[in-house]
Amino acid sequence: MSCLFCKIVAKEIPATLVAENEHALAFRDLRPMAPTHVLVIPKKHIASITSAEDGDAMVLGQLMLMARDVAKAEGLDATGYRLVTNNGEHAGQSVHHVHVHVLGGRAMAWPPG
Ligand code: AMP
Repeated sequence: MSCLFCKIVAKEIPATLVAENEHALAFRDLRPMAPTHVLVIPKKHIASITSAEDGDAMVLGQLMLMARDVAKAEGLDATGYRLVTNNGEHAGQSVHHVHVHVLGGRAMAWPPG
């Protein structure tokens, strides 16, 4: 298994977990870009949104719902938060296992850089 996030799913490398269910896992980003920065990933290896299949719809929906729950648990729902999924080279995707960044705790600029 060469995928870093698959190793986190398998608990082969440590991560600070904040949520887990049958389909997904949430853990704190190693290099936080906001006061709260959590990654939500599917347990199934899906390299990117580009390579996701129609049959992944339920799992991808689970990521959004876990992101919602994490944001609420982190106290971000009143002030708001940003969900980001980088996809491919121009977006700066560096780990090729789908993930939703949950970013919050400060105001954010738009458009993104
Ligand atoms: P992206 O650049 O969108 O692919 O996001 C990958 C994210 O994974 C980056 O924000 C990294 O800081 C984060 N990251 C990489 N390795 C780890 C790790 N072992 N534990 C937690 N976060 C990580």
